[in-house]
Amino acid sequence: MNRVAIAGAGPAGLTCAIYLARAGWKVDVYANDENTESSLVEADLVENYPGFPDGEQGFLLLNRMIKQAQKCGACIHPEGVAKVLTDERKVVDTVGNAYVYDEYVEAIGCKRREFECPGIDLLPVHTCAICDGTLYGKNDKVVVIGGGDTAISSALYLSNIVGQVTVLVRKPQCRCTNQLALNALVGKSNAEIMYETTLNTVTKDGLGKPILHIGKANYYADFMLLGISSVFVCIGSEPNTIEHIGNGKVWRCGDCVEEHKQIAIAVGSGAKTALDIIGSCR
Ligand code: NDP
Repeated sequence: MNRVAIAGAGPAGLTCAIYLARAGWKVDVYANDENTESSLVEADLVENYPGFPDGEQGFLLLNRMIKQAQKCGACIHPEGVAKVLTDERKVVDTVGNAYVYDEYVEAIGCKRREFECPGIDLLPVHTCAICDGTLYGKNDKVVVIGGGDTAISSALYLSNIVGQVTVLVRKPQCRCTNQLALNALVGKSNAEIMYETTLNTVTKDGLGKPILHIGKANYYADFMLLGISSVFVCIGSEPNTIEHIGNGKVWRCGDCVEEHKQIAIAVGSGAKTALDIIGSCR
């Protein structure tokens, strides 16, 4: 029986697992460390994945995929992959066990880009509105940095929880593809989008309260936001990486290689990789 190790238990890794398990492969999916846990758990209502006309919560959709992969025979390990000896096709997991496979797939998604700004530690900084938004309430004002789909959907989500949301977009326009979400945000009385604006520095007043200095990037003449409870940084992501030793074959699928970070694309990417693997072994 052919054996495959898949690093990553998001839509791409799980779809790849479903296809290979159904083709008779022994499939081990490595999950649950910072590289391999799916960011889909952070998604609020997913409304653009076909088959769910009323939308579906991200973590529920992911749970369905995990269940389906397990039902097909894939084994989901509660460890991540620490490194891969690609010439020997050996995977070393995060607790130090090493296993040999016929094929190795990386579906390890992306990590959030960090935002650098002097003084930003003077107030709480979050990267996930779904995870941390409920720490705040109607008496809070929050700032969202970024103009992509994550920033706009996060701001929309937060606008239902907090008193005021201010979105700082560094360009004259947003990059987001979800016009419905952008329209909905613009229609909110407690949300404001400030274009060509970013957070340049944070200082504190005499009482130790943060003062957010905003303006054009690196621009001296700024203006200030006061009374802000926290900042949500949503400025995109970079592919995760796992250490490779050797020059052996590594298959890749999903957000770590696809330009468009969409669940439907990750699913297709996982399926294609599985079929390519099966084809290459004939
Ligand atoms: P994106 O890369 O699409 O957008 C990042 C945003 O952050 C851009 O507005 C970018 O500005 C801005 N930015 C980057 N660096 C900085 C910085 N240092 N300071 C200030 N602003 C900065 O990332 P997303 O996470 O929003 O989206 C990633 C992918 O996931 C996209 O393909 C998106 O479509 C998808 N996605 C889809 C969702 C959906 O509902 N369909 C939901 C969430 C994500 P600039 O434009 O100037 O580079």
